[in-house]
Order: sequence, then structure tokens, then C-alpha cells
Amino acid sequence: MHNDRPVEGTPNICIIVRNADGWYAHIVCDVAPSPLPPTGKSVGIDVGLESFATLSNGVQIANPRHYRAAERTLKQAQRRLARRVKGSNRSRKARTLLANAHLKVKRARWDFAHTIARAPVNEDDHIVVEKLNIRGMVRNRPLAKSISDAGWGIVLNILLAKAARAGRVVVAVNPAGTSHICARCGESVPKRLAVRWHSCPYCGCALHRDHNAALNILKKGGGTAFGEAQPLGGPQNREPHRL
Ligand SMILES: [Zn+2]
Repeated sequence: MHNDRPVEGTPNICIIVRNADGWYAHIVCDVAPSPLPPTGKSVGIDVGLESFATLSNGVQIANPRHYRAAERTLKQAQRRLARRVKGSNRSRKARTLLANAHLKVKRARWDFAHTIARAPVNEDDHIVVEKLNIRGMVRNRPLAKSISDAGWGIVLNILLAKAARAGRVVVAVNPAGTSHICARCGESVPKRLAVRWHSCPYCGCALHRDHNAALNILKKGGGTAFGEAQPLGGPQNREPHRL
């Protein structure tokens, strides 16, 4: 067996998986939490359309373009397999190539998700996210937004696991109204989706639409006084949650 890293903690479960490129043993271990030192900082995260996510400090995380190439290879492999005669040697080879392409896309997604989830866990004690419905039960949500929500679902699960281990608190809030309300003065400033800039006629606050939304998300999850804030993970809750 080739070990990609030393086994930590007490091994509990071992799952043997056959992937396109070989056999894998997933070893699930009980590990003690390793809390990170408090930073006294908190962050709100808005999942967007133009950028993958915007943080309440104004940082924008670009959409993952690096796996576009892998996705293109995947499409080619699918077409190639479709052209081959079923059961033939050439079809078998095409199937292997397709499986490898799938694996590559999957790994690129996971890699991206781990990188994105790492930063807020390292930097912030208190992380506020949107409560999303990944299975698409929220109606009137634009299609593109639903797709980015699905990508966000993977990031969120990883974020929850990392936060639990590091002793960080993750709170999910209802995102309703977060893009319309002015984060500075609290007045309602309705805008269509195409309007990318928030400029408040009441207090003069001018921000990118998603930055304003991220600030509102942070505010909403800022304390227990907010009725809709629900802790999703934290030191007391080590199991990753699914939304
Ligand atoms: Zn305002």
C-alpha cells in the first residue's frame, strides 16, 4: 500500500474503493480537535454569480476556471465512447479514458473546495454563510445561481469539517433581502439582478452588490440575538453537517 500521509488518531472504518486509476483504502479515524488560536475576526460569505463568492472584507473569490479544461476533456471522452462499437476492445479503452477524465474533474473540484475553505477557517473565529437549498427547492432562483450553489455545497461541507476541527463557529442565515438592504444604514434599496452596484440614496454608501450582501450576511449571523442564526458546526459539534 502507498500511504499518502501518516494515519492520524484512532482508525475506525476502512472503505476499499476501486477508482479508474486503482484501488483506494479510505481510512476514517477519530481525531482530537486541534483548535486554532482565536483571531477575534469574523467573516460573512456571499455566494455569487460573477464571482464564486464574496467575503465581507471585500475579497472576491473567482469562479474556478482551472477545471474547465478537464471538463472539455471529459466531453471529448464521452463522445469518443459513444462512437465505439459496444463490447469491442476499442470501446473498453474509451471507457477507461472516460473514467479517468471523470476522476480528474472530481479531483479538481475537491482541490478547489479545500483551498477555498481553508482561508476563512485560518483567519476567522466566526464564519457566517447563507443558508442554501442545494436540492433546488427554492424557486425563483436563477439557474446560474443554482449551479454555483451546487459548487458551494461541496465547499460548505469541507468548511464545516475544517471549522469543527479548528474550533471555529459556522452560522447559517437566511439570505433573504441581503442584496437589497443597505449594510450601512439598513434602508431597503431594491435592485434588479443585473444591477451589480449598491449605491444607497439614504446614506451614500457605495459598494459592489455582493460585498454589500456579504456584509449583511455577517450582520445577520453576528450574534445569538438574531433569531434565525443557527450554529452549524463548532467545537461542540464535530460531525460535518449537510444542508
Ligand atoms: Zn444606506
